[in-house]
Amino acid sequence: MKARFGCKVFKVSLDAGLTCPNRDGSKGNGGCIYCSNASLKPKGAALKGIADQLAAGIDYIRIRHKAVKFIAYFQMNTGTYAPTEYLRGIFNEALISKDVAGISISTRPDCLSDATLDMLASLKGAGPLWLELGLQSANDRVLEALNRRHTVKEFEDAVHRARIRGIDVCAHVIIGLPGEDATDWLNTAQFLGGVKVWGVKFHQLQVLKGTALNEMYERGEVRLLELDEYASAIVDCIEALPPATVVHRLCGDAPLEHLVAPRWGVNKFIVMDRIRRFFVERGAYQGRTSPTFLERPVTRRLAPQAR
Ligand code: SF4
Repeated sequence: MKARFGCKVFKVSLDAGLTCPNRDGSKGNGGCIYCSNASLKPKGAALKGIADQLAAGIDYIRIRHKAVKFIAYFQMNTGTYAPTEYLRGIFNEALISKDVAGISISTRPDCLSDATLDMLASLKGAGPLWLELGLQSANDRVLEALNRRHTVKEFEDAVHRARIRGIDVCAHVIIGLPGEDATDWLNTAQFLGGVKVWGVKFHQLQVLKGTALNEMYERGEVRLLELDEYASAIVDCIEALPPATVVHRLCGDAPLEHLVAPRWGVNKFIVMDRIRRFFVERGAYQGRTSPTFLERPVTRRLAPQAR
């Protein structure tokens, strides 16, 4: 983004007031077992319109992070769960702002009709536009246990229909899900390389207050990864991704007031440092084990002085 815009570009989280088919009963009730929308509530979301939320978020981030341009991030619930023309209106409302470089929309694979994708493709000329598509695991058995209520096939189909329209897809993946081991998350990374997603966001399984996962955790049914286990898993997954895949996120950091466990993710810098250390110690690099590895990266290892 720096290369493209010549300045710092930050995301501004927005709440468009949409709900989720996995909460309103059309797909399911109660949502995915780990989901806590309260923990994602953006600053300024009490303000009604998109333009007001954007202005508040931009003011805050401009001062705190010295950002110059912004990505309007429709993060809450399912960002495409509304009639196409209504969605066009809210996305255009964000794009009107001269400070907004592009938009990012968080959604489910089963909420992307062809009409909605056509509309998104028509907005694309306005700047970067990407879909953040929840997958979490490429194992249908695990998706069922998470109460995701969509299949891996539906994800693959949505990625394909977005790709043929030139829309970038960033997949969301959780490492350390109940019932998963290293074989599963490596399989997920390889699957994502195979379906050629543009980007991936990883985060550790986090237990948040008010979720079904929290109840399972209280009953002793969930084992969470330790920091070293997670950092090691991330290195393995990145090695399994094609070199060109954009890794948007390496760990999550839920607000403390919502977080039950694990607490090691609170300081992102410690997590990043551990991941970096494993990369160096193993001589690891993105794409090393990717089955779809087509082109070797120019720089494989950090220079010694960077260690
Ligand atoms: S994680 Fe996404 S799909 Fe699942 S309940 Fe939450 S908003 Fe809905």
